[in-house]
Amino acid sequence: MRAMVLDKPRQRLQLRDVEKPRPDRRQLLVRIATCAVCRTDLHVADGELPDPKLPLIPGHQIVGRVEEIGEEVDSKFKVGDRVGIPWLGWTDGECIYCRSNRENLCDRARFTGYTIDGGYAESTVADARFCFHLPDRYDDVEVAPLLCAGLIGYRSYRKTGDARRLGIYGFGNAGQLIAQIALYEGRDLSVFTRPGDRTTQQAAKELGAVWAGGSDELPPEKLDAAIIFASVGPLVPAALRALAKGGIVVCGGIHMSDIPSFPYSDLWEERVITSVANLTRRDGEEFFAIAPRVPVRTKTETFSLEQANTALDRFRAGELQGTAVLTVTE
Ligand SMILES: [Zn+2]
Ligand SMILES: [Zn+2]
Repeated sequence: MRAMVLDKPRQRLQLRDVEKPRPDRRQLLVRIATCAVCRTDLHVADGELPDPKLPLIPGHQIVGRVEEIGEEVDSKFKVGDRVGIPWLGWTDGECIYCRSNRENLCDRARFTGYTIDGGYAESTVADARFCFHLPDRYDDVEVAPLLCAGLIGYRSYRKTGDARRLGIYGFGNAGQLIAQIALYEGRDLSVFTRPGDRTTQQAAKELGAVWAGGSDELPPEKLDAAIIFASVGPLVPAALRALAKGGIVVCGGIHMSDIPSFPYSDLWEERVITSVANLTRRDGEEFFAIAPRVPVRTKTETFSLEQANTALDRFRAGELQGTAVLTVTE
């Protein structure tokens, strides 16, 4: 099968003809239709995340159809079913985290397109326990960006509890998806962009934000919660300063530049800073239940499998108009 392979970080992906994988007893063999490109793919390709599997087939927002089913897989899936394969690819089910509903923190977790092969290919195998059925209202391209920006964004959003005044720093894929759910649930949304990015601020207001401005500005009202989707450490103290008492800053990305120091008085009065790591299957089930009701809409730009390097380059340069989605097979 054709695959785009990362031999080493900081090198171009190589188009290869590799052996088609075979499913083990607990896996599905999936013929891939689409795979969305995530910022994490850039972090992996650029060597910003430690110890990837090498050589590696990247990609963890995979949409495809079941071609073969391992003998121990329960009856949830049939041959021909459409499935989504997310970032969390395998857990041991027995560590202290798995046994306390925190499988996202599993000591031995494996991650699709990072420590196991992912979706920049014609086929893949995936542990059936971590595959999702996908809502019918979305086609294969539209639904792909929901599998990471949606799921991990949703986990970040849930960490904000019932915060009425919600700020989002970074209005990329995850920010735009979560903003739609926040507005649907009646939150007062403030959106922070790069200083001077009037186009994005205007887009946020058109979507329904009560305020949109630069990350160096403060909204007229303090926030109960802020989610940071940009991988920019200095946004953490900036968001902290925008919080009301008891507020929370949620860092939604896997990688962030260093956070500068800040006075304790900015944290005082029970303000909280937390990160969000990975996802649980429950996040996925909840998200795919709410997304079609909103309905959450995605904006995409499609590329062929062979154009994966172009998609990554354009993502890195900030030139994409929507989430890049590789269209692999019909
Ligand atoms: Zn575990
Ligand atoms: Zn991702």
